[in-house]
Amino acid sequence: MSKGKRIIVIGGGPGGYTAAIRAAQLGAEVTLIERETLGGTCLNVGCIPTKVLLHSAEALAEAREAYRIGLKIHSLAFDWDVIQKRKETVRSQLVKGVEGLCRANQVKVIHADARFTGSKELTMRLPDGTEEKAAADKIIIAAGSQPAIPPIPGVRENPCCVDSTGALSLASVPETLTVIGGGVIGVEFATAYSRFGSKVTILEAMPGLLPMMDGELTSILRGRMERDGIEILTGARVQMVESSSAGAMVRADCGGTARSFQAEKVLVAVGRRPRTEFLNLAAAGIAAEKGMITVNDCMATNVEGVYAIGDCTGKVMLAHGASAQGEAAAENAMGGRQVFDPRTIPSCVYGSPEFAGVGLTEEKAKEDGIDYKVGTFPLSANGKALIMGEQEGLVKIIAGRKHSEILGVHILGCRATDLIGEGALAIGLEATTEEIIAAIHAHPTVSEALREAAMAAENRAIHIPNKKR
Ligand code: FAD
Ligand code: AMP
Repeated sequence: MSKGKRIIVIGGGPGGYTAAIRAAQLGAEVTLIERETLGGTCLNVGCIPTKVLLHSAEALAEAREAYRIGLKIHSLAFDWDVIQKRKETVRSQLVKGVEGLCRANQVKVIHADARFTGSKELTMRLPDGTEEKAAADKIIIAAGSQPAIPPIPGVRENPCCVDSTGALSLASVPETLTVIGGGVIGVEFATAYSRFGSKVTILEAMPGLLPMMDGELTSILRGRMERDGIEILTGARVQMVESSSAGAMVRADCGGTARSFQAEKVLVAVGRRPRTEFLNLAAAGIAAEKGMITVNDCMATNVEGVYAIGDCTGKVMLAHGASAQGEAAAENAMGGRQVFDPRTIPSCVYGSPEFAGVGLTEEKAKEDGIDYKVGTFPLSANGKALIMGEQEGLVKIIAGRKHSEILGVHILGCRATDLIGEGALAIGLEATTEEIIAAIHAHPTVSEALREAAMAAENRAIHIPNKKR
C-alpha cells in the first residue's frame, strides 16, 4: 500500500465518510468535501429519521395491543412534537459522532460544493460564496442521490405533495395520506403514518409491491398491511394531481379504470436519482449514464485515479452498500485491488412485520434456471415469536439442489432486519444448509427459525412436519 497520497472525497454520506476514514487509516492525507451535513441522506433525511418515526409508531401499535400480553394501559396518546424533536436529537447525535470520527482519523472536512475543473482538480464553492481550488492524487466521488420527481402534472405545483424529506417533518399527522410508489420508502412511510392514525392509500404502477423482494413473503406483508387498514392498489398508475378541498385529488389509471383519491398529503416516493448534475463530470471526462457514474467492480471510473461509490453510481442505493463500496474504493485508491462483491448486500424493509432478504429470491432462481430447493419455517412455530406475540411471518432459505449451498435467505417477521446478517454471512462464506444446521442457535430466539428453515430444505425440520417439495 502506498502512503502519503492526497485523497479528496466528495460527499460525506455513509459512502463518503467511510471511504475517507478507511483511506486515512491506510495513511492517506484525506480531505472530505461536504456541501451540507455530514452523514448525508442516511443520517439526515433517510435511514435514521425514518426509523425513528417507525420506532415510535411501532411502540404505539404495541401499546394499543398491550392488553393481549396482560397489560392495562388506560390512556394512550402520542406527542408529534416530541417525536419530531427526538428524531432531530438522534440525527444530530449521529452526525456529531461522524464529525468526531473524522477528527480522530485526521480527515480534514471542508464544507463546500465541489465541482470538477480537470481530471483531479476541483473548485470548491464555500458557504460565503467564495471559491477555492483543490487537487489530489486520487478522488472518490460519493455525491449520493435525491428524490426523483416524476413528470406527473400537478405534482410540482401542489404544496400538499411532499417527497420523503418533506414527509419526515410534516407539521402534523395528516388525516389522509396517498403514497405514490410502493417501493421500500413508500411502504415504510405508509406503515408509520397508518400507525399514527392517517388513512393511507398506496398507489403502485407495477403489479406488486416491493418488486425486488421475495414474492411469497411480499404477499404475506401486503395482506398484513391491508388488515392493518392500509389501502393498496397495484397496477395503479398516477396520472395527475389536482387541488381539492382536502388538499389534493390524485387521479390514477387503475388497470384501465379511472379512479380518484382525496388526500390531505401526497407522498411522492417513485425512486431516487443520482445527484451528479452539479459535479461538472464532463470537465474530468468521467463517464456517466443518465447521471449514474459508470464504475467497474473495483469502483473505478473510466478516469484513472477517480472512483465513485454509493447512490451516485445508481447501483445499490443502500447505505450499507455505499459504505462497503467506500471501503473498497479507499483500499483501491491506496494501491489495493479489492473487488466489490454485491452478493452479500441485504435489502431491508422496516414495515410491520420487518422484511429482509439477501441473495437470490425464488423468482430470480427460477428465472436464472437454477436447480434449487427451498426450506421454509413459519414463525408461528417459533417459541420466541409466540412469546412476543409476533407469530406472523416466515423464514425461507433457497439452496442449490445438488450441493446445498445457500443462495438466498428471506425473512418476514420480527427481528428480520437483525437476523438477515446470518444470511449474508452464510452467502459470503459459501456455506451450505448443513453448515447452518451445524451451528447451534440459542433457545428461545427467533434465530432458531433460520436453522429450522435450513433443516426444512433438507427435509429434516424438527418443529414442523416435513414435506417433499
Ligand atoms: P448520500 O447519503 O446521499 O450522501 C451524499 C452526500 O454528498 C450528501 O451529504 C451531499 O450533500 C453530498 N454532496 C453531493 N454533491 C456534492 C458536491 N458537489 N459537493 C459536496 N458535497 C456533495 N438505506 C439503507 O441502507 N437502509 C435504510 O433503512 C434506508 N432508508 C432510507 C429512507 C429514506 C427516506 C431514504 C431517502 C433513503 C434511505 N436509504 C436507506 C438509502 C440511503 O440513505 C442511501 O443509500 C445512502 O445514504 C447513500 O449513501 P451515499 O454516501 O452514496 O450518499
Ligand atoms: P423505489 O424505486 O423502490 O423507491 O420504488 C418506486 C416505485 O414507484 C416503483 O415501484 C414504481 O413502479 C412506482 N411508480 C413510479 N411511477 C409511478 C406512478 N406514476 N404511479 C404509481 N407508481 C409509480
